[in-house]
Amino acid sequence: MIYLDNAATTPLRRDVLDCMMPYLTNAYGNPSSIYKLGRDNRIAIDNAREKTAQILGCSPAEVYFTGGGTESDNWAIKGTALANAKRGKHIITTEIEHHAVLHSCEALARQGFEITYIKPDENGLIHPQALQEALRDDTILVTIMHANNEIGTIQPIAELAEIAHGRGAIFHTDAVQTAGHIPTDVNGLGVDLMSLSGHKFGGPKGVGALYIRKNVKIFPHQDGGAQERNKRAGTENVPGIVGLSRALELASEEMQNERERLRELRDTFIKRILDEIPDSQLNGDDEQRLPNNVNISFDYIEGEGMLLLLDMQGISASSGSACTSGSLDPSHVLLSIGLPHEKAHGSLRLTLGRETTAENIDFVVDKLVGIVARLRAMSPLKAHA
Ligand code: PLP
Repeated sequence: MIYLDNAATTPLRRDVLDCMMPYLTNAYGNPSSIYKLGRDNRIAIDNAREKTAQILGCSPAEVYFTGGGTESDNWAIKGTALANAKRGKHIITTEIEHHAVLHSCEALARQGFEITYIKPDENGLIHPQALQEALRDDTILVTIMHANNEIGTIQPIAELAEIAHGRGAIFHTDAVQTAGHIPTDVNGLGVDLMSLSGHKFGGPKGVGALYIRKNVKIFPHQDGGAQERNKRAGTENVPGIVGLSRALELASEEMQNERERLRELRDTFIKRILDEIPDSQLNGDDEQRLPNNVNISFDYIEGEGMLLLLDMQGISASSGSACTSGSLDPSHVLLSIGLPHEKAHGSLRLTLGRETTAENIDFVVDKLVGIVARLRAMSPLKAHA
């Protein structure tokens, strides 16, 4: 099997599982209990928080553990919007955010907030000038993702955050696709809130973190017990939290080498596909691009057909259509960067990971050449071209 869907999720690392195991078995105490079994769990959370904070470049008191990237995004956006609503009700985001952000904004719009969606350029970049123009006196929050999960475009977050701060707005970034892959130092980025998710960097699913800069006004996302300093109630997911912090630590240690290695593989992959398959084009930016992201549109064919035939060869990838609720909607990201529906439907996302080798890439390109030719031979779109 060749797994090329690391933007969807990554395999849990063995070392991470080993660190989690005690908390899934013998060390089962509730971290809020005062006896040793509980205290050991509290210590494990404290250590995980410290480690995570060190990697993000913040204080442990600014790290909150959550139930994943979606929860972190929901909390960051709704929690700050509602807590700061007296100052204004205008929020700025982009057209290409993950649905965790877009749908959170839509929920706020139903409660009387006004949302401005910035359009990216044809490579998926959000221009600082566009943010400058969208900001108003009543803008309380700007939420722009660090890198896009579909086309891999990396945004100039430091510059965008500075502009937002210049007008008194809070700045949140969804760093779910970047944490553990490229630097996400919160002061380097200049952000006030940042979302991460454990399963995107070799950690477990269903656990995430939200960085909240000291003094940012935010409402709790869940009501209940006093966990997470009264801000995120619920008995902590101790194995998940331990796993997330260990996975982040390992990914950070390996980041520099892994980035270089993946960039090289990615560039060979892209070059070979574009050279060997006619009528194909790269989506996203050449330079400002995640080291592991390849997103290509193939004229005249459907992504789903490619996925099925790739799957028959043991290759896992993803397409530019979201197969939700039985309909095949083309990706909002590809449409937003200006792709016509046909091209958006004919796109493939291949995201590399720690286990991807040069041999894998060669194998996949060889198979893909045949798959695209086979599908085009049957394509009514091609026949009309
Ligand atoms: N934000 C981005 C950019 C993502 O890619 C994802 C996951 O696909 C999420 C948020 C949601 O994260 P989670 O799966 O941990 O809820």
